[in-house]
Amino acid sequence: MEKVSKRILSGVQPSGDLHLGNYLGAIKNFVSLQKEFECFFCVVDLHAITVWQDPKILKQKTREVAAAFIASGIDPEKNTLFVQSQVPQHAQLAWIFNCVARMGWLNRMTQFKDKAGKNSENVSVGLFSYPTLMAADILIYLATHVPVGEDQKQHLELTRDIAQKFNSDFKTDIFPIPEPLILGAATRVMSLRDGLKKMSKSDPSDYSRIMLSDSEEEIQKKIRKAKTDPLPLPDNIEDAKKRPEAINLLTIYAALNDLEVEKAVANYAGKEFSQFKKDLSDLLIANIEPIRKELTRLDNDQVFLKEILEKGTGQAMKRSSVNMKKIKDIVGLS
Ligand code: ATP
Ligand code: MG
Repeated sequence: MEKVSKRILSGVQPSGDLHLGNYLGAIKNFVSLQKEFECFFCVVDLHAITVWQDPKILKQKTREVAAAFIASGIDPEKNTLFVQSQVPQHAQLAWIFNCVARMGWLNRMTQFKDKAGKNSENVSVGLFSYPTLMAADILIYLATHVPVGEDQKQHLELTRDIAQKFNSDFKTDIFPIPEPLILGAATRVMSLRDGLKKMSKSDPSDYSRIMLSDSEEEIQKKIRKAKTDPLPLPDNIEDAKKRPEAINLLTIYAALNDLEVEKAVANYAGKEFSQFKKDLSDLLIANIEPIRKELTRLDNDQVFLKEILEKGTGQAMKRSSVNMKKIKDIVGLS
């Protein structure tokens, strides 16, 4: 195995507009981890097409997600930023992993169950085999660490199982067993309309999420309308945990301030939601407004974005083709 102690891969789907969950669960952590790790960050458009995407909108959203990486503080010079579909080795390794992973393993994936719902006979095969492509995204770069939100923990466990089975089937140690990095206070940001549902790009209600492209007024309105219960804010963390909407807003507040949730609960114990919501809006605006401005600037500089992605594709392709050659040789594909 190549002796590298710290290499990251992580991706975000261009399946819609980026929201606060993507930022706090993933991108904000990418920004702090880039100092310590060699990083590959990609826009995972092959994952997005596991459900129907309008081709024109998909192209546009792909550019927007790449721009959001940069606008949030990822340095495109230091890290490799690219679009997954432009590097064919991901799909190639995913096929090999389809032949390594077991049906029983994939049948246990809760994201498939959540996304397919009652429609499981009629969704794409890609939606079912999504986790083997995710394993390939990570392992084609021999990544050792994967920063993700809590919802991806099970897929990471599957990636580890695939790496282990491959290494043991082929008597090799080529693949590292990658570690999830689930960091910060807000590893699972919930919908602003329903504290029991994950904040998600695919939720039909715009009021369920704060977008990185939201204006000050939109943020204020969404937080004002965010569902809460009629009681004042909880006195302690145990009570807070029993109140899904309250703990969600307190968690967002804590994550944006790099605080423990307990500390946020203590700061607002027994206070009214009106004051807390005002403070939370201000905090969100202070964090999101610079990103939104930078997104607008990058939107007007498509040439820059194109150059960054082309450079990233070249770097990703170089690394992944060297690894793919070794993997094919191990499997006996010649
Ligand atoms: P979709 O609804 O299309 O699956 P999504 O909002 O879940 O979109 P993804 O592109 O699937 O976004 O995920 C990108 C990253 O954001 C992943 O690391 C994921 O774990 C993280 N993430 C997504 N939603 C949340 C959330 N609500 N809280 C924390 N992290 C999240
Ligand atoms: Mg998702």
